Amino acid sequence: MPPLDIEKFRQMLLDEKKRLESDKAWLNGSFNSDSGELADFDVNHPGDTGTEMFEREKDLALNENVEDLLEQINTALVKVENGTYGLCDHCGKPIAEGRLEALPYATFCITCQSRMEGR
Ligand SMILES: [Zn+2]
Repeated sequence: MPPLDIEKFRQMLLDEKKRLESDKAWLNGSFNSDSGELADFDVNHPGDTGTEMFEREKDLALNENVEDLLEQINTALVKVENGTYGLCDHCGKPIAEGRLEALPYATFCITCQSRMEGR
C-alpha cells in the first residue's frame, strides 16, 4: 500500500474546518440577530413555511454536530502534526484510504468502528 498523501488530507481537513466554522458562525448569527446574511438567505430561498421549519430543525441538529465535528477535525490535525494521521486510535493499524477520503477525520479503522457501534 503506498503511503498516504498526508498533505492532501491535511488540506481536506482544513477545508472542512473552514466550512464548519462558517456554518457555526452562520447558525449562531441566525439565532441571535437579524444579520444581513440571513436576509439574503431568505431572498434566495423564498420557500414555503413548512420547508423553512424543516430546514431550521435540520440546522439545530447540525449545530450540535458542528462542535463535535470540529473537535474530531482538530484531533485529526494534531495527528497530522505528530505523524500518526491515518492510524486507528484503537488498534494502531492504518485506516483504509477510501475511508479517509470519505471521512478525513476518522480516528478508528472500519473494524474498530463497527465493533464499537455494534456494542
Ligand atoms: Zn482499529
